[in-house]
Amino acid sequence: MTDSTQHWVELSIETDNELAEAISEAIYPYVEGGVALEQINYNDRIADRWEDETATGPVVVRAYLPRDATLEERRASVERALSCLNLIRPIPQPAWREVAQTDWAEAWKVAFKPVRLGRRILICPSWIEAEAQPGDIVLRLDPGLAFGTGLHPTTQLCAEALEERIRPGMRVLDVGTGSGILSVLAARLGAESVLGVDIDEEAVRAARDNVARNNANTCVSVALGSWEQAAGVYDVVIANILAGVITRLLQEGLAAVGHAFIFSGILDTQAEAVKVALDQASLRVVDQKQRADWICLVCEPQPTTSHKDHGAAGN
Ligand code: SAH
Repeated sequence: MTDSTQHWVELSIETDNELAEAISEAIYPYVEGGVALEQINYNDRIADRWEDETATGPVVVRAYLPRDATLEERRASVERALSCLNLIRPIPQPAWREVAQTDWAEAWKVAFKPVRLGRRILICPSWIEAEAQPGDIVLRLDPGLAFGTGLHPTTQLCAEALEERIRPGMRVLDVGTGSGILSVLAARLGAESVLGVDIDEEAVRAARDNVARNNANTCVSVALGSWEQAAGVYDVVIANILAGVITRLLQEGLAAVGHAFIFSGILDTQAEAVKVALDQASLRVVDQKQRADWICLVCEPQPTTSHKDHGAAGN
């Protein structure tokens, strides 16, 4: 596979779930072979699964740079990307070390561990034997360029909401599918058909790979674009994007294409602004979940007979 005389420099940063995805996206263009997110104390968490069944930090972000003429330029680009993120939230100091050349590929794979979500969902890289329990839903998900490894609190909140809401035979729209994680999950929970859309071509590619890997092709299709790809009305519409994007999608008329909605990617400080947009779109909040600073809002159309003055969203 790789040249056995090749040397690598490993970059690792210990952080939390939330920053891990952001760091991974920021450094991805400058490293070789992808970015690994390693959940610490994973095995302890499996033992406690019913008490603490979802993945929470700390996480080690690990990536490799080839030791060649491009090293210094790549390292400078990585440091620049990290210092930009550092302006938003402090990033722990990265550790750099030389690694043995021959087992680079294996070391890289070992760093990806299964992640548990919701009550019975196990996200597992394809090369790992899943340690599934009876009744578990195992998703085979390989890291690609796309967001959606299952580590981010917003993905976890959406997975929980899907577990509660999806019933066999439902039609689902997943706006901002990323790695396809929530689309595949909806299919495994019994949805009859799922459309995942994303404006990022890399995400569409990663999502299609993951749909195929999970033998979900007959149920899940993935399209480049946004909710304008929707055909008809869906039982559940998921959008785990960002508060600003969700607000814009609501203003564009997203509320018309769903009987129920799961929104996340919303910081607790942004929830009130999103609720105003929901109310303007005649949606009401029927459930609200929170993990760390992140909020997930489950919404339904306001009853047509209600007067807005009497029924503010969320009350
Ligand atoms: N659904 C996955 C990924 C969420 S990341 C999860 O829950 O883990 C958000 C994704 O939304 C990104 O892949 C981004 O490319 C996509 N996105 C951003 N704006 C969008 C828009 N207006 N329409 C559709 N997708 C969008």
